[in-house]
Amino acid sequence: MVVRITYHCNYQILEWEWASDNKMMPYPYFTSIYLIDGLLIDSGAPGGENDLRKFVESLNHSQTIEKCFITHSHEDHAGGAHMLNSEFKIPIYTSEKAISLLKKGNTYPEYRQMAWGPKLLPVMAEIIDKPIVTKSKKYKFELFPMNGHAPELVALIEKKKQWAFVADAVQPKYKMIFGRNSDIQEDISLIYQSLSKLYEFTKDMDELLIFSAGNGVLKGREIILKKMEEIDNLYNQVYKNSMLIQKEGYSGKRLIRKIIKSLFGKESIIGPLTQGDLSRENLIISLLKWENK
Ligand SMILES: [Zn+2]
Repeated sequence: MVVRITYHCNYQILEWEWASDNKMMPYPYFTSIYLIDGLLIDSGAPGGENDLRKFVESLNHSQTIEKCFITHSHEDHAGGAHMLNSEFKIPIYTSEKAISLLKKGNTYPEYRQMAWGPKLLPVMAEIIDKPIVTKSKKYKFELFPMNGHAPELVALIEKKKQWAFVADAVQPKYKMIFGRNSDIQEDISLIYQSLSKLYEFTKDMDELLIFSAGNGVLKGREIILKKMEEIDNLYNQVYKNSMLIQKEGYSGKRLIRKIIKSLFGKESIIGPLTQGDLSRENLIISLLKWENK
């Protein structure tokens, strides 16, 4: 297993990253959790449970975890919560929409087990619907719903510090998304709306730092605008191509295949590896479903 610890903002934020060292993985996929003044944001993957336990045991008195907030129910974010709650009695908080999903636990396909470990154990969490104040009252985090990657995803924003903890709501590049038969139903139009909402909400934050889960820290709110432009371009390309290809008499699956070819050359290798759960096809379908942009 690979564990990395990084401090940000003059030791105010501790980032703990975990990735599986499974030989079947082409490269390590990291997921991050953040510890700020006793508040833990997310809990890593089920496969990282033992490493997380060691990490919690290694914390000194001033770093003790007082509470944990889960941004969304995916296994790479909620995977350590069962252990934190049952062994360390750390209370777990989440949004109203995530409560029942966490309570159910989850078993997921083998390709996700390779990255994140066997299965997500049920988590008994409590709903939080007001800003989260940390242990020494130094920081106050607003709850900021960011639908799109997952319907229940809630980011945390510390306005004074200009920090946004967005989990998977901001991705490095929109080349493929989850969909099809997967339990993860990403929607590109909702992802775009959430980015736009985040851009508006952070308008006075010239020094904004966006903390992602496993994709580093993004500096400046212009990044949000760039992400929106990236999706705008994809949308325009898909519609332009779709009109042209339909004129040639293509429709349905053949139309989608033609659009993938014209935009990306071919489907990503990840597509067949995930039985179509994560693919460029899902991205095109989601873009074509997007009405009234
Ligand atoms: Zn996720």
